[in-house]
Amino acid sequence: MKTKILLKESEMPTHWYNVIADMPNPPTPPLGPDGNPVGPDALAAIFPEELIKQEMSGERWIKIPDEVREVLRLWRPSPLYRAHRLEKMLNTPAKIFYKNESVSPAGSHKPNTAVAQAYYNKQAGIKKLTTETGAGQWGCSIALAGQMFGLDVEVFMVNISYGQKPYRRTMMRTWGAQVHASPTNLTESGRSILAKDPNSEGSLGIAISEAVEIAASRPDTNYALGSVLNHVLLHQTIIGEEAKKQLAMVGEYPDMIFAPCGGGSNFGGIAFPFFADKAAGKKIDLVAVEPTSCPTLTKGTYAYDFGDAIGLTPLMKMYTLGHDFMPPGIHAGGLRYHGDSALISQLYNEGLLSAIAVPQTETFEAGILFAKSEGIVPAPESTHAIAATIREARRCAETGEAKTLLFNLSGHGHFDMTSYDRYFAGELEDYDYPEEAIKESLAHLPKVG
Ligand SMILES: *Cc1c(COP(=O)(O)O)cnc(C)c1O
Repeated sequence: MKTKILLKESEMPTHWYNVIADMPNPPTPPLGPDGNPVGPDALAAIFPEELIKQEMSGERWIKIPDEVREVLRLWRPSPLYRAHRLEKMLNTPAKIFYKNESVSPAGSHKPNTAVAQAYYNKQAGIKKLTTETGAGQWGCSIALAGQMFGLDVEVFMVNISYGQKPYRRTMMRTWGAQVHASPTNLTESGRSILAKDPNSEGSLGIAISEAVEIAASRPDTNYALGSVLNHVLLHQTIIGEEAKKQLAMVGEYPDMIFAPCGGGSNFGGIAFPFFADKAAGKKIDLVAVEPTSCPTLTKGTYAYDFGDAIGLTPLMKMYTLGHDFMPPGIHAGGLRYHGDSALISQLYNEGLLSAIAVPQTETFEAGILFAKSEGIVPAPESTHAIAATIREARRCAETGEAKTLLFNLSGHGHFDMTSYDRYFAGELEDYDYPEEAIKESLAHLPKVG
């Protein structure tokens, strides 16, 4: 019985899959401050033309440039695993497979889009990319990708994480990036925050404002975003395309797919290529897994809202908890986002995708069970998918169903040992569903139309 199902380098997908081609309804457009759809021009100050085209494209297949595939070959195709030892530990008749995206140099799925974004910016004559990072996964990915294509990278890292995640910071510098603790005095946005609070801990919203401000004010500088946008999800579909080929090699097809969902990029990445089959009538359940403390899809409202905390971005129609909702400080930093991808939100609203929320301690229990059986210590984000898969596998053990389950191991947890320490010390909390905070924040949704 096989454990690792491997594709040859020559079998790496040559095209990304664009889910828009198979959606029953056209995607809702992003809106500008005047309430009208945002055209390509509005984005041109911070994104290269090719990425703007991809953001709006309805073409089913989009070619992956050879230069991008060449860099992706450093770790792709990524292995698909059959989790024999986890199955045994759970004593389940279910077959469990996982796609291992932790094998990238940065340790997660995020370089899949970082490499593509760096390439298109380089092609467009751009010299520098700015971005924000919270826990550091995205900052590392764009630092790596910038280095591969000879672009300077400037990362605004949320001040509190800058102190808490020193090794992510060092990793970015190893790949040549400049890293600042945000807020800085390098931007108008940063200075205005520091004037009010010189010791500000910072936030992702503030860091985005700083990175966008610099990109918008310099012609040779662009901005890069690690999730949420259509082109980011597009670049991640290589995950699901590979997984489909790998499952076919062992004669399998999943009944259910689970992935953690923050902004939706790794979930869209693994699920969308299978959505193509679902749209054609195949029975498959695609499940986004989120924290109970930041339950965007399961408890949010489907409405137009800003993508950032301050209100600088275009309005996107998405499931949201309100752009000024501050999620509790859970250890899966990548899942602390108030909104979600517009594509995922629309398909979920139409009943074509599912979502569940899992409490924090259950995710760590699942992560530890996974580490003890399969060996890999998962990222706190990834443990959400593991917990949901384990729930289903245990259900199968009760009913005797031999379902085929697939989940995305979006990253490893080697930089998250402090979080595991907290769990072992019994200090991890299960936050209640923050109903009051969400209600308050939803009252501030922008008025549209
Ligand atoms: C960033 C991150 C996520 C969440 O982001 P998505 O865009 O929803 O995929 C999940 N897992 C890991 C390891 C991450 O770094």
